[in-house]
Amino acid sequence: MTRVLQHNYGNPSSHLHSFGRDASDLVEEARQRVALLIGASATEIIFTSGATESCNLAIKGVAEKYGHRGNHIITCLAEHEAVLEPCCLLESRGFDVTWLLPDQYGQVSARQVDEAITARTILVSVMAANNVVGTINPIGEIGRIAKRRGVLFHCDATQAVGKIPVDVEAMGIDLLSLSAHKFHGPKGVGAVYVRGRSPKVRLSAQIDGGGQEHGLRSGTLNVPGIVGMGLACEIARDHLDEDADRITPLRDRFLETLSKKLPRITLNGHPQERLPNTLNIAFGELEATELMQSVPEIAASVGSACTSGTDYPHYVLRAMGLSEDHATNSVRFSLSRFTTDEEIDYCIERIVDAVKALRGHGSKLPTCQTCPTACCGGPEQCGTVEVELEADQNGSLRDAAAGSSKRR
Ligand code: PLP
Repeated sequence: MTRVLQHNYGNPSSHLHSFGRDASDLVEEARQRVALLIGASATEIIFTSGATESCNLAIKGVAEKYGHRGNHIITCLAEHEAVLEPCCLLESRGFDVTWLLPDQYGQVSARQVDEAITARTILVSVMAANNVVGTINPIGEIGRIAKRRGVLFHCDATQAVGKIPVDVEAMGIDLLSLSAHKFHGPKGVGAVYVRGRSPKVRLSAQIDGGGQEHGLRSGTLNVPGIVGMGLACEIARDHLDEDADRITPLRDRFLETLSKKLPRITLNGHPQERLPNTLNIAFGELEATELMQSVPEIAASVGSACTSGTDYPHYVLRAMGLSEDHATNSVRFSLSRFTTDEEIDYCIERIVDAVKALRGHGSKLPTCQTCPTACCGGPEQCGTVEVELEADQNGSLRDAAAGSSKRR
């Protein structure tokens, strides 16, 4: 990407000069790499700014193009907002939307989809893997049913691509959304797969302009981002099994050790059918926000990080039938290709200490700023004076007066 930023600043739509043609060659190479990762042809890949745009293009694009055939769409209440919101919008414009309820693991069944299809159904949209609990849906079965019933199938595979095998042909997927940053690519770039034959899927563009990407997504292409995504696809493809084999035992050890060391730990999501890297855990009777605030050096998520930074009890957990308290006590941990044994050990130790401290002291105890893990039991017992902290350039919290530093 750095090389492209420095040396390949041509516009890939400008074919008259070598700068443009070089940029175009890089884009086409990346297109091929994205296609290979999901079993598609390069001509079926449309570049976008990420999965939100891809889902919007797929869902609204089908609704507008096929609306004359029917006005019914099927999706699930556990989908990401990138799917829920376009469906809500279409509902407000007169479409009928069936909102399937996931089971207690966050999974929808092919049978639920089959039973919901009517003569007016034009689209089924079901995610490959859930972003909150990591549960994997039976995508191949849903694809087969959609095909048999003559309905288009969009799959938001943002959490699955690059982590588990995804093959649009084998799974009967007609439209697929993905985002590069979910598999170590850059942020702000993604793609939508649009089936080119059997059947050839048609979409109404949602962004009009210069007609790039076969007229489906106008706007100058983000060449460095696309090149980065292409490379991330190739690396993910080469390491798919190896990454999963390495990360899954780490994920399991994390959960098992926490469960041994702490009472009232529960796993949210499917015990087996889930992503290798995702773990959603409820810490009984302890608010997730309070817990994670006391271990700020651990980057985990309460609520939906990929939404807007809010920490409301997650709607996915509520849709799975979990209580509001349970949802409020739940944290999502995501491992990556680069997560180490030492990092898992560190997280276990810090979380166990924090949970014990919070439970031991009652989770509402005031904490002094110099001791944010509450290990001292608050300002009175701590004996330290409250100090004014400011962030230094490295993101460390510095005591403005004394100059001492604490990692954030
Ligand atoms: N779909 C799923 C399942 C996601 O997890 C996300 C983001 O986390 C998105 C869609 C939206 O992706 P982006 O923010 O890259 O547009």
